[in-house]
Amino acid sequence: MPDAGIDRVLIAEDEIARTVRRLGREITTCYSGIDRELVVVGLLRGSFVFLADLIRAIRLPLVVDFISVSTYGDGIVSSGELKVTLDLEQSVEDRDVLLVEDIVDTGHTFSHVIRMMRSRRPRSLKVCTFLDKPSRRTCEVDIDFCGITIPDAFVCGYGLDFAQRYRNLPYVGVLKTD
Ligand code: 5GP
Ligand code: MG
Ligand code: MG
Repeated sequence: MPDAGIDRVLIAEDEIARTVRRLGREITTCYSGIDRELVVVGLLRGSFVFLADLIRAIRLPLVVDFISVSTYGDGIVSSGELKVTLDLEQSVEDRDVLLVEDIVDTGHTFSHVIRMMRSRRPRSLKVCTFLDKPSRRTCEVDIDFCGITIPDAFVCGYGLDFAQRYRNLPYVGVLKTD
């Protein structure tokens, strides 16, 4: 039985674990030739659960930093507004940066953050998302490492919220709409 407020389980815990391990292998392979540590940048807050698991599946020296941009507020409709509410502590100039997002929906947030990161002149920049909802894309985003492609539904759990709730669910579920 899913928790109250959740209509159904979309991605169960074991599928999440398999996906994270696969992404960890892909990322490890991709960067295996680099001689410097990777800078893994999580977009707060949605990516923090995924990022915590992902970094333990990456077998490379790395550091973690976070950035927060405001997008959806507490609702499920995008305001279109975007501002940096918490910036990185470290410089990414001339470093290998992996940006980590919870979900790419319209692509607005990620493409904005990618542009901003590029302007800081990293040596390389790649992007990873746990979930991808391509049916709603309005801004094109080149995703280097993609977890699971999902249909157009509002999902919660494994870090993703509705009005800051449900982030602690160990699975990804579809929110009840009533
Ligand atoms: P985008 O800018 O790509 O439309 O949206 C990105 C942000 O919107 C995500 O990082 C996430 O915070 C939020 N978002 C988009 N779709 C969903 C969803 O299905 N569930 C939740 N909880 N957040 C979503
Ligand atoms: Mg997000
Ligand atoms: Mg949110």
